[in-house]
Amino acid sequence: MSNERQTTHFGFERVSTGEKIRRVMGVFSSVAEKYDLMNDLMSAGLHRLWKRQMIARTRVRAGSLALDVAAGSGDIATGLLGKMGAAGRVVLTDLNGPMLREGARRMIDAGFLPGRADCVQADGTRLPFADNTFDALTIAFGIRNFVDVEAGLAEFLRVLKPGGQFVCLEFSRPVLPLLDIAYDAYSFNLIPALGEFVTGDRESYQYLVESIRRFPDQGRFAKMIRGVGFELVKYENMSGGIVAIHRGYKV
Ligand code: SAM
Repeated sequence: MSNERQTTHFGFERVSTGEKIRRVMGVFSSVAEKYDLMNDLMSAGLHRLWKRQMIARTRVRAGSLALDVAAGSGDIATGLLGKMGAAGRVVLTDLNGPMLREGARRMIDAGFLPGRADCVQADGTRLPFADNTFDALTIAFGIRNFVDVEAGLAEFLRVLKPGGQFVCLEFSRPVLPLLDIAYDAYSFNLIPALGEFVTGDRESYQYLVESIRRFPDQGRFAKMIRGVGFELVKYENMSGGIVAIHRGYKV
C-alpha cells in the first residue's frame, strides 16, 4: 500500500504514513536550533543524567565502531567517543538535515570530525550500511518518532555484528504512585507553553508529549525488541519510569 493510503498516529491524530514523516521532519526542522536549550529547560537538566547513564551502559572500547541513530545534536555520539579513545569511531545518522547539521557542528567543535565521526542522513528504518557492520548501536529519544518501530528494530539487528549491543533510551511509563498524575499535568500544561515561549512553536511540543503517551510501555517495548530477534533483552527505569534504557544483543 502507498505511503499516502496507509495510516498511523501522529501524536493523538491519525494520519497517512507519508504525512507522519513530513510532519515529524517539520517538528525537528522547526526546533533544531533551540533543541538543546529546550531539552535542558523541559527536563531541568535531567536529560544529561539519563544520557550519561545510557553511555555508561553501552559496551564500547578502544577501536569500536558505533552507530548512533536519530543522533540529532550529537550528545550520545560525543559521550561514546569520549569513552572509546582515539581509535574509536561513531557514525551519526538522522533523517532530518537541520538536526544532523547541529550534530556535525558539535563534532567539528569537539575535533571529532573528520576522522572519528561521520554524519550520514538516513532513515533509521532503511540504513545505508552493510549487514554486520557495527559493534554497538544506540538511539536516544528517536525511535518513538518512527512510522514503523519494528522495521527500525529489525534494521538495527541487521547492521549490528554478532555480539553487538543495542541500547535505546526512550520516554516510558511512570511506575511510582502519583508520579503519572503529576507528570501528565506537567507535560500537557507546561511543555507546550514552554515550547511556544522559547521556540514560538507550540504544536511541535504538543506532538512531543502526545508521542510519549502513544509509545509502548517498558514491557511491551522489551517484547518488541525480543520479537525481531534480539537476545538477553532487559530494561531499567530511570526517574521513576519517566524514561527507560532497553538493551539487547545480536547473538
Ligand atoms: N538523539 C538525540 C538526543 O537524544 O538528543 C536527538 C533526539 S530528537 C528528540 C529525535 C531525532 O529523531 C530527531 O533528530 C529526528 O530528526 C530523528 N528522527 C525522527 N524520525 C527518524 C527516522 N525515521 N530516522 C532517523 N531519524 C529520525
